[in-house]
Amino acid sequence: MIHFQNVGKTFTTPTGPLQAVSSVSLKVEERDIYGLIGFSGAGKSTLLRMINLLERPDEGSVLVNGEDLTQLSLRELRKRRLSIGMIFQHFNLLNNLNVYDNVSFPLEIAKVPTEQRKQRIEECLEMVGLLDKAKTYPAKLSGGQKQRVAIARALANKPKILLCDEPTSSVDPQTTGSILASLKEINEKLGITIVIVTHEMNVVKAICNKVAVMEHGRVVEKFNLRESNIAP
Ligand code: ADP
Ligand code: ADP
Repeated sequence: MIHFQNVGKTFTTPTGPLQAVSSVSLKVEERDIYGLIGFSGAGKSTLLRMINLLERPDEGSVLVNGEDLTQLSLRELRKRRLSIGMIFQHFNLLNNLNVYDNVSFPLEIAKVPTEQRKQRIEECLEMVGLLDKAKTYPAKLSGGQKQRVAIARALANKPKILLCDEPTSSVDPQTTGSILASLKEINEKLGITIVIVTHEMNVVKAICNKVAVMEHGRVVEKFNLRESNIAP
């Protein structure tokens, strides 16, 4: 589903070129929950962001469903991006909009008609257990609730892939559990493929079926985690 072939990315910085990702090859299969783990600065986030071209690879290629997104026109790329959801460490909710309108936002961009939009928003909020918070503003939510709103928003346009960049790094351990439970549920119920960047081994242990360990821009190890290793 996602295929990295010898992918590299170098940033230009004031102190010279910085190779963030070096010759990474890996395959994420449909319905995987694929973990990218490693210390800060290892290149995990850059690798993740090359899946939806928030960063462009400057070596090798990234294929999503067999397609090299760098070959698409901007218009086509925008369309493809709708099928790739993303969530972040700091949630990135729109604070001047309530929960309902936050989830509505990507649907409005995709020009989904009002009636359909309403149904879709309710489905997504129900999926993360926050339908009763539709009218609430982000400032009144806990960290776990904010991240679950972000998940609902990421699901709005029915993506096949969800990218998660340190989704539990700014919340406490209990809240981490509720976020991971939501991710596991959407993987199982909706068949969504998840790629998750984290520096926390407990996150990988809790939900990932595969993991790649990154160091200094390289994948240094890959593991398949057997079903029996996956926590309930
Ligand atoms: P991780 O997600 O593992 O913490 P990143 O992918 O964020 O690592 O970063 C890898 C390296 O690339 C780091 O040294 C970081 O400082 C550098 N880097 C990331 N983004 C940029 C950028 N836009 N410009 C310059 N350097 C960057
Ligand atoms: P807090 O951030 O205050 O610790 P959360 O917002 O993470 O709490 O969770 C609030 C409640 O919602 C918890 O009781 C949790 O068990 C429940 N919850 C978590 N995930 C889901 C889900 N996917 N569907 C329904 N309920 C959930």
